[in-house]
Parts: sequence; C-alpha cells; structure tokens
Amino acid sequence: MNLIRVALDVPVARLFDYRCDDAAAQIGMRVLVPFGRQKLMGIIVAKPDLSEAPEAKLKRAYALVDNSPLLGRADLRLLEFAAEYYVHPLGSVVMATLPAVLRRVRSREQAPAAYELTAAGSAASLESLPPRARSQRKLLALLQSSVVVEHSAITAAGAATRTALKTFIAQGWVQAAALGGIVQPKEAVTPAAGPRLTGEQSAAIAAIQEALGSYQTLLLWGITGSGKTEVYLHAIASALARNAQVLLLVPEIALTPQLESLIAARFPGVPLATLHSGLADGARAERWQAARSGHARIVLGTRLSVFTPLPDLGLIIVDEEHDSSFKQGEGFRYSARDLAVVRARQRGVPVVLGSATPALETYRNAIDQRYRLLTLKSRIQAGLPMISCVDLRQQRPSDGLAGELIAGIAKRIARGEQSMVFINRRGYAPVLMCGSCGWMSDCQRCSARLVLHLRDRQLRCHHCGHASAVPRACPSCGDTDLAPVGQGTQRIEAALSARFPTARIMRIDRDTTQRKDAWQNMRARIHEREIDILVGTQILAKGHDFPHLNLVGVVNADSMLYSNDFRATESLYALLTQVAGRAGRGAIPGEVLIQTQFPDHPLYTALRSQDYDSFARAQLAERRQAGFPPYVYQALLRAEARGLDTALEFLAQAVRAAYDLESGVTIYEPVPANMMRKAGRERAQLLVQSRTRAELRTFLNAWQPLLTGTKSTAARWSLDVDPLDF
Ligand code: ADP
Ligand code: ZN
Ligand code: ZN
Repeated sequence: MNLIRVALDVPVARLFDYRCDDAAAQIGMRVLVPFGRQKLMGIIVAKPDLSEAPEAKLKRAYALVDNSPLLGRADLRLLEFAAEYYVHPLGSVVMATLPAVLRRVRSREQAPAAYELTAAGSAASLESLPPRARSQRKLLALLQSSVVVEHSAITAAGAATRTALKTFIAQGWVQAAALGGIVQPKEAVTPAAGPRLTGEQSAAIAAIQEALGSYQTLLLWGITGSGKTEVYLHAIASALARNAQVLLLVPEIALTPQLESLIAARFPGVPLATLHSGLADGARAERWQAARSGHARIVLGTRLSVFTPLPDLGLIIVDEEHDSSFKQGEGFRYSARDLAVVRARQRGVPVVLGSATPALETYRNAIDQRYRLLTLKSRIQAGLPMISCVDLRQQRPSDGLAGELIAGIAKRIARGEQSMVFINRRGYAPVLMCGSCGWMSDCQRCSARLVLHLRDRQLRCHHCGHASAVPRACPSCGDTDLAPVGQGTQRIEAALSARFPTARIMRIDRDTTQRKDAWQNMRARIHEREIDILVGTQILAKGHDFPHLNLVGVVNADSMLYSNDFRATESLYALLTQVAGRAGRGAIPGEVLIQTQFPDHPLYTALRSQDYDSFARAQLAERRQAGFPPYVYQALLRAEARGLDTALEFLAQAVRAAYDLESGVTIYEPVPANMMRKAGRERAQLLVQSRTRAELRTFLNAWQPLLTGTKSTAARWSLDVDPLDF
C-alpha cells in the first residue's frame, strides 16, 4: 500500500495519512484529499511506510495537483521549523505562505497591465521635456521612480497622464511590462556605475564576500545616509557572480519602488522579482514561480517573501532589520527577520542584517560576537543632521507648533528647500471633548478614543473601524461646547496652511495614501519639488531619500515616551533616528527639531549626541537587570471572548494544564490585555517566560495540544512566540 502524509490547512496541529495509488506522488506536491465532507488541498510532506491509523480507516487521496514537487525539501524544512517554533499547524503555515492562486484549484487570474520604460525612454531625461508639459514630466518621473508601474497607478494620476502615456507609447518610450512585472534581461543596456566606495563600505563588502558560501550572520550597522544600500548592491553582485540567487527583504511596500529601480539599473541583465502584499494574485503567483524555478535571480520582497522557494539561494539581506513589520501580527505570528537567520543557517549561506538602530536582540548578538559586526560610522554627503529639542515649557506652541519650528520652516521656504513635520497620529484630533461635563468620544466597542476626522466630519475608531457623524451637542449633557483635544496630521496641516497660505503642503498618512499607488505619485511630486512642506506619519520615516528636505520637526514625541511596554524606548529611539535621517540627505546638512516637555529625558540626550552604542548598552543593562528580553524568552497566550471572564477562565484552565507538564518555564497570572476591549471583544493574556529558547519551545509544543483540548470553546485563543506587542 502506498501512503502519503499530508499537511492540511485545518486548526489541528497534526498531519493526515492517506492512501495514494498514483506512483508519481512525491514529497512537496500538492494533492486533493477528502476531509470529512470536504475536498481539501494539501501538501505531501512524507511518504511513510506505516501509518498509526488503522488500515481500514485510511481514505484514498483524490488526485495529485502537480506533476513535479512544488516545494523542495529545503523549502519544507524551513516551513517545518516555522511550524514548530511558532507552534502553528504545518498545514496552515504552508497554505499561508503559498500564493493564493496556488491554494486554489481554479485557473490562474490575469495579471494587471503594467508598463515600463524602453531603452529610448530610459535615456530620456526630465530636462528634455518642456516645462509646460507637466503631465508628461509627471509621468516620466513616475516611470523613472520604479521599474514597472502598474496601470492603476497611471490611471490614478489623472486623465492628462493617460494621454501622456499614449504619447510615450507612440514615440516608443514606454512598453507593456512583460511577465507581470518580472524584470527581464535587457541586453543592450549597460549597468549603471555605482559611486566610488568609501573605505568603510569596501571593508563591509569584503567581509560579506568572504562569508559567501557558508553560514554567517553579519550585522551591518550604519547610520542613516552612510550608504548601506551600496553595500547591499555590491554584496548582491558578488553573490550573482557565484551563480547564486539573492533574497532581499524590506519592511514595507512603500520602500520597494525606489530599491527596485536602483537594482534594475545596476543589474540590467538579471531577472528581478518583487513580491509584496499589494500585488494582484496572478502577478504574485507568476513572480513566485519565477523565483522557484530559478529564473528570477534577485527576489525583493516584504516579510512573507522569506518563504519564497529559491533553489540557488546564496545570500539573504534584511534591510531595516529592527522594523516591527517583519513580525506578522496575527494568525501565524512569525518573524521574517528571525526566520531569515534560520533559513541562512539551514542553507549554509550568509545573511546580512542592516540597520542604523539594530534591534536590541540583534545588537546583543553582535556584542557577544555571535554575529559579525560591520560598521559604517560616517555619512556620505552632508554631515549628520543637527538634532535639538524645543523646550515646550519655555515656548508654548500655538496649534501644536512652536515658534522655533515655524521660523525654521519659513527659512526653508525662503530658500526653496523642503520641510517635514512628523506626527504619529492621523486624523484631526485624537479625541473630542465636552467642555462642560468632560465627556470624551470613546469607542463603544474598544478601549480607545474615537478620533476626530474633520474632513469627512466623522468620529472614527482606528482599531475597529467604527465611524459616526460628529455630534452637534454633547451626548451626555447636551452642551454644544465640544472641542477637539490634541493634534493629528489634519490639524497640523490646517495650522500650517494658516501660517503659510502660499506654501504647497502635502499630507501623507494612511488616509491620503490608501489608494493603490497613491504614494508612488506623491513621491514623484516631492522629487519634482512641487511640495514645500510634508506633514505625515510613520510612512515618512522609512528609508526615503528626499534630497531637498532639510528640516524635520517632530511634534508630540512625548506621547510615545511613557508607556508600559518595555520596548517603547527602543522603538521611539529607532523611529526618531529614522525620521531625523530624512533631513539633509543632499548637499546641505539638515536640522531636526523635537518639540518636548522633557528635553532632559535620557532618550533625547542620547538622540542629540546620536550615540546608539551607548544608548543600546544602557538599555541592555536595564533589560538584564529587570529580566526582560533578550535575556529571557517569552511567549504570550492571547485569549478573547464576549466577556472578560470567559477569556480569563480559558487562561486559568491553560495554567492548570501547564501544571501537569514538567518544565522550568515561568508562567505568569492571566491578566487583561493592555487594550482590553477591541471590536466588541474582551481580551486577556498570559505570559510564559524561559531562560532558554529550547526549554520554551519544548514546553509550548507539549502545551499546545492541551490547549486545543480545553473545554471552554467560547474563547478564541492564539500563541505568540517572541511577542512584540502586549
Ligand atoms: P542608508 O541606507 O545607509 O541610509 P543610502 O544607502 O541611502 O544610506 O545612501 C545615502 C546616499 O549616499 C544615497 O543617495 C547613495 O546613492 C549615496 N551613496 C552611497 N554610497 C556612496 C558613495 N560611496 N559615494 C557617493 N555617494 C554614495
Ligand atoms: Zn457634556
Ligand atoms: Zn473601536
């Protein structure tokens, strides 16, 4: 009898055996099998000689989906590791990592049309177009900013841009991009030459070259603007020269177009596949297949692409490795950064982690010499920006903006330079309040405030999506004395327009960049110097190069300073370093003004001297003292239910189940989550901690089946290994 062992996407952490008479069955192929009354698709992960299930009970598989294995042994090994480490059913892990098209049995969907510059178009410059041909200039800037621009991005830019597209196609500057956006070899193009390397860059590159061919983790710690990207490009070139595929992971989709065009210009003959969550299903599947077949030699992608099958993998790079978006926040809660290191070890290849502010976990490994530390200490162009604090106790801000910041912006406008005001909240104001009774706009379904969005006259919850009209009078006492409290991006934007009526202001937050490719268009306008002042949230912080931006103002950093999350200081330092890093990337040194009530806080002191090493060492000492990660390993059991009691009761049962297991892990009391209510459900959690990873892993894998068996089904629960937020 021929048996196959199949991983299925069902919430049970086990595999299922079937009979399979098809002699072609191989590990790594997709197969259709009966499961209860359903017909499910799974992956063959083993061909056992014997099954634990009685022979009579074994069902017969319907049919194989693939003619040859879709996943290789090495791909499966990573998925198996992830399933065990994150205590998540292997079948769910496999299905979560496959492109949607391959999870269905139906035929593939059509990829959307996309465009790219031809050789003639690439040779054209913005200056060659007349200044009044605004749409053409805009379109060319858009096409130059990215290797492939999807049709929707051009449609979004307006009717005039569509006309410009027709013109470009007619004159042979633009063509439809082939293969759903996989960049194809262009024989005629010579690679763009890189700049002459600095000594620090050369040393870092040499170290990576030396590491090629075997496992090593290297931390490339380089301040913002120190030229880390250039190091990656040379490392990629060396790996390609050895006939290897390269995997480059980046935190967010917003970052990919710039890097994509840079890579394409440097490696014109090399097929490049970009993978991110914004892709249509068809395009994602095509690019994934191109990587899997070995056709694509460079894969650039966000967190999920860490699982992309790569037969010739020779180098992994993780840019901005400290970024929390590498951690999946729900369902299968893996860390792509950590799995990149595991994958490198499994495959015997080096992995480079790059950051200006490495995660403390990573930095500690470098200090302990488990990772090789490569440093870039100086900026390429202008010096580091001057960072200073504006003491809000001395200078009362009006509409959220202190006089010094206003004066700074006025100076930049006069000089034709750009300024940016950073605030971590979108909307007009974080809360609406009644001046007579103190009523505040609370969300009924969450432990959170409703945010005032003045543009659409709505109160909105950023957690559950609830939206209601702004009340005319206080719902509690009927008084009409309702006032917005605090600042959001819209309010800062309004304040700036009032101050600088002729300035061109652009707001950049989730509300303005929601539409697909909106951000790409906005970036092109910033580069074209059509904007004087940018107001925005986190989106602005990430690795963008704005050469004309010389002043960064930070409003409201204090709100992130005091928090009961032990990682708050670390993330704020990283965030502000990145925000500050946007200033002065051209020839003129930049200036950063941080508005604060606490200019003497150690975090701001460290930031002003831009001494990450001392900051990190002090933080690590505190963590060691307090018994926090990276000196201990944690997992969080989260539970949610209609009532808090139900959630807590489930956790209490989980604690009792743990008593039966022999283990040295520490189990804390069940407690309500920091954000106790969310979308109408009450949330509680339980922390499990251990001094070693191995001990934690063994415990969790023994505990998980007991949790599945727990009676209380009214609570939904999940395990989060190495949790980032609590
Ligand atoms: P980081 O990622 O470290 O913040 P980037 O890689 O964005 O820094 O580099 C900053 C700028 O310096 C970029 O515009 C890049 O093109 C440029 N650059 C990098 N290396 C060199 C070099 N050796 N000589 C001149 N310019 C360089
Ligand atoms: Zn009231
Ligand atoms: Zn809500």
